[in-house]
Amino acid sequence: MNHHYCPLCYAEIPVGSVSCPVYGRDIERWERETPYFDRLIWALRNPHSEVRMGAILSLANQKRPEAAGPLADCAAQYPVDVVQGMAVLDAIERLPSGSEKREALEKLSHHPAHAVRVSAAEKLSVLS
Ligand SMILES: [Zn+2]
Repeated sequence: MNHHYCPLCYAEIPVGSVSCPVYGRDIERWERETPYFDRLIWALRNPHSEVRMGAILSLANQKRPEAAGPLADCAAQYPVDVVQGMAVLDAIERLPSGSEKREALEKLSHHPAHAVRVSAAEKLSVLS
């Protein structure tokens, strides 16, 4: 859990790196100029599961409805990762109601993992 990854190219880098040793991009500047929410959305595409999981939990706390689509895409991208799929569902459940949330749950009600599918359908059925 103590690995540190470049938020731009996802390579493993030493803790505290200000620029990426792989591509030379200025990480500090990117983090300064990119809004936190956008960085969380970007982190959903990170190939390292602990980074994605951190982003999923943080997006749940942000409570912005537009996170629902990218969260559902993240779960769809990793069909065998049930733990992540359930975390995505919990995060989506905590977002404000609206079409984004409904569409995301509808998408996940067709997820390849049975547990994710069932839970998505349940959450969908209680949406007002
Ligand atoms: Zn990099």
